[in-house]
Amino acid sequence: MAWDDVPGVISRHDGKLRNAGKRPLPPLDDLPFPVRDAEARHVLGIPCAPLLGSRGCYADCAFCCIYAYADSAEGARYHRRSPENIVGEMEREYSARGVRLFVFHDDNFFVPSPARNIERYTRLQDLLLARGMDDIALVIKCRPNDVHEELFALLKSMGMIRAYVGIETNSDEGVVGLNRRISPADNQRAVALLKRLDIYCSFNVLIFDPEATVEGAERNLGFMERHVDIPFNFCRAEVYAGTPLESILREQGRLRGNYLGWGYSMRSPRVELLFRIAATAFHGRNFKSDGVANLNMGLRFDNEVLRRFYPDAWDDQWHRRLVEFSRRVGNSSVTMMRDAHAFAGTVDLSRHGEIKRYAIELARRVGRSNLDLLREVKVLRLEMEDRMARLGHRWPAGPPGSPAPWAAETARLTTSVGSTASTEQLPAPPGAQP
Ligand code: SF4
Repeated sequence: MAWDDVPGVISRHDGKLRNAGKRPLPPLDDLPFPVRDAEARHVLGIPCAPLLGSRGCYADCAFCCIYAYADSAEGARYHRRSPENIVGEMEREYSARGVRLFVFHDDNFFVPSPARNIERYTRLQDLLLARGMDDIALVIKCRPNDVHEELFALLKSMGMIRAYVGIETNSDEGVVGLNRRISPADNQRAVALLKRLDIYCSFNVLIFDPEATVEGAERNLGFMERHVDIPFNFCRAEVYAGTPLESILREQGRLRGNYLGWGYSMRSPRVELLFRIAATAFHGRNFKSDGVANLNMGLRFDNEVLRRFYPDAWDDQWHRRLVEFSRRVGNSSVTMMRDAHAFAGTVDLSRHGEIKRYAIELARRVGRSNLDLLREVKVLRLEMEDRMARLGHRWPAGPPGSPAPWAAETARLTTSVGSTASTEQLPAPPGAQP
């Protein structure tokens, strides 16, 4: 079969598109396990492996490329592997490469039925225990409505150390406009339950979407403020090909750009202004791989690896210091976003010079705060390593010329704190005293 006849392939011939048709989705248990010949990557010296227990998602959020991608194929848009098949791959990784940290990249680890979820993961646990795999850790992602006490207590007993919870929006119009089928009460209940179960989680908030309002932005900021002790990020709902959001904006004549990067303006000019100010001021903090938001999440994740695999190097007091650090990051973001919210809600929109001056000054404030927080990240990371070293735990030695351990660890985020901290330094404002 020619490559451009393979179902699922869209090719260009003489300037025209050729669609080879919908790709079929084979049963996931029929697929061979991925080839993993290289040495496993490590987190704090613990070999880890990414894997998938399912593909697609049962939900249909308007902005979601996962839903759109799965929907563009032939067959059900949510497929799961059997627990037996998953454990088969885990066992191979456990024995062949010493993997202990299993990072599930399923976009949604559950179906919307607590009873069925408990049944599935009880089976997974039984299979793992039958193979003596009780010294592992799991990482998952979920929707808030699937956070259930008995289910999450079960997963915690299996070694789950982090749940990413897709909060996405806490505003009424966001819930409807993005087709979340989740209420703000679900969001609050999920996070409160995870805190009660002492399960580490992180989340993202789409403060900005096409129909976002000034009041809705305030409700999203309120949610972030209530949970500053949890690492989070915030951004705009982006437009991905094939999503309902793309078609809606196209039909409304609001879609800008092209398939390489669609854009739009929010219906409310004041929310659009707030978005532009936030995108300018928070770019480094929220979107760089070594920005404060990512490092906050990374630090807290590593702390959970420490708690699970090196319990003698972990204690409550240390844990509280890290939570306190997250609180400082969260409070700093919310305080400055509230300031921007108040400005965008009242400024005369025709005063471009005043708006630009405000955005630049806010970017400087965020940049100065980033420098302080980056310094703290570095100190805390070094202390984490020191805690391990004092108890005789060592990272596996890297090849000659490897960076220092703390840099090697953050390198898995593609870069290191130290080498880029200086790029956060913004020029001093005119007339500033040295
Ligand atoms: S719950 Fe998450 S993965 Fe599922 S459709 Fe919504 S955004 Fe996509």
